[in-house]
Amino acid sequence: MFCKQCGAELQNGTQFCQACGASQGGQAPSGYGGGYGGGYGGGYSGGGKIESYLVPNIIATLLCCLPLGIIGIIYSSGANSAASRGDWATAEQKASTAKTLFWVSFCIGLVAIIAQVAIAVSQQGLAN
Ligand SMILES: [Zn+2]
Repeated sequence: MFCKQCGAELQNGTQFCQACGASQGGQAPSGYGGGYGGGYGGGYSGGGKIESYLVPNIIATLLCCLPLGIIGIIYSSGANSAASRGDWATAEQKASTAKTLFWVSFCIGLVAIIAQVAIAVSQQGLAN
């Protein structure tokens, strides 16, 4: 399908244009409960909450990868504030970026920890 307002290509079933934000179905945001129920795997259940990955990103910032984690926190809080405005398209977009950033920083952190352990073990092996 295409945006009624600006003509941008959209996924079928998208309620708001990701390019210009225009409503595609004339449905009020309260209609999201049913509309997004399947597509987003229950992420919108409750009709007012979004999984923004704020806490995982804070943990990732502290434990793993500081710069990526901070960017993740920025996206997470952006998702939360968009959700509180009722701007679900933006909230979903930012939350998915925050999720990606979390997993990237988590993986980098994990690799760093494994590398540190490997170095520690090999140094111990040399000492003995
Ligand atoms: Zn549009």
